[in-house]
Amino acid sequence: MLVVQKFGGTSVGDLERIQNVANRVAKTKAQGHDVVVVVSAMSGETNKLIGYAEHFSKNPSRAEMDMLLSSGERVTASLLSIALNEMGHSAVAMSGRKAGIVTDKIHTKARIESIDPSAMLQEVKEGKVVVVAGFQGVNEEGDVTTLGRGGSDLSAVAIAGALKADLCEIYTDVTGIFTTDPRIEPKAKKLEKISYDEMLELASLGAKVLQNRSVEMAKKLNVNLVTRSSFSDEEGTLITKEENIMEKPLVSGIALDRNQARISLLGVADRPGIASEIFNKLADAEVNVDMIIQNKAVDDTTNIDFTVAVSDLTDAKKVVDTFVQSGEIKADSYNEDICKVSVVGVGMKSHAGVAAKAFYTMAQNNININMISTSEIKVSMVIDEKYAELAVRSLHDAYELEK
Ligand code: ADP
Ligand code: ASP
Ligand code: MG
Repeated sequence: MLVVQKFGGTSVGDLERIQNVANRVAKTKAQGHDVVVVVSAMSGETNKLIGYAEHFSKNPSRAEMDMLLSSGERVTASLLSIALNEMGHSAVAMSGRKAGIVTDKIHTKARIESIDPSAMLQEVKEGKVVVVAGFQGVNEEGDVTTLGRGGSDLSAVAIAGALKADLCEIYTDVTGIFTTDPRIEPKAKKLEKISYDEMLELASLGAKVLQNRSVEMAKKLNVNLVTRSSFSDEEGTLITKEENIMEKPLVSGIALDRNQARISLLGVADRPGIASEIFNKLADAEVNVDMIIQNKAVDDTTNIDFTVAVSDLTDAKKVVDTFVQSGEIKADSYNEDICKVSVVGVGMKSHAGVAAKAFYTMAQNNININMISTSEIKVSMVIDEKYAELAVRSLHDAYELEK
């Protein structure tokens, strides 16, 4: 079997843990499998590097940030390879570039365009363990790019797809995918299986246990994906096709996204084309807009509220400023003290009353809902950040997810 094993930041958080990972990889190899390993930076390392950059600039060039941030993963890849070689397992570390990962040009959130797996396959054929630095690739111009926060998951899944691996294991600091973040609700239950679509919703809505694009890619390439702990041998959670799951609960999980900011545009000129102009400019600035609410116009102007990731706030403000300066928007305000809680489940498609229960639960806890959005398989609510944990626990209770 060819297995891709990805180890996240906590799993490689210090030298002892890197040795622990080396032991685990060696064990898999000893069982007769070929192994390609993908590693994250040691925990806290990426944030530390961002902090270093911010010491010099509030708005550093994204290309320079990629040069900087990609180094964290290289450190771990080299150390793990050195440890494996010392144990008598021949191993080789590779940067994203050497592993053949080509991305688009969007620095700090690049998309993988193609992978040429020949260098990895050659080493595997020679019996070596390949250790790839996650989170990075290279664009057509030869510049290093990174894949967005949590991007080593995407590296692992994309590599598994390119190598046609039999299995892609994501090793992390929890034993699998739970009904909600077990750090917020200790009663959360581990799921044996979850569908790609539900996992994609959970990940997109803030459950950072898997990066959302990695799940999207896993679904597209049909990768057998398992999330499990690097600290125990407990079986993890299989992320798979919906038809492989017999039992379809109404609600599978609750997600929380604290990384949200709300932008309010007041007195927006009420004329055809204005929303298109604003949101196109935001798209050009690579700002991902999430929920949007536009109010009924009064006195020829309207109000538009929308949410973006906190990390996109500076770029979004720049765009909004140009409209304020031209007089098309009278005033703007920003609120970072918000979060988004979401209820996710494929079973919702065929059941009424799921959203009503979520709203009722918020009401019972005196939590004001600021914004709502729904789809076939999710209900999301923007609320004040201070109620984040209360909301998650109450919803977990309301849908009886501990059972
Ligand atoms: P890694 O460094 O291994 O990539 P992350 O910190 O990115 O790990 O993701 C693991 C964390 O995801 C867990 O520690 C947990 O707090 C959080 N998490 C959020 N939602 C869930 C969920 N539904 N199931 C499991 N873990 C979750
Ligand atoms: N080190 C990167 C981050 O912290 C990528 C990852 O860990 O997946 O976001
Ligand atoms: Mg992660």
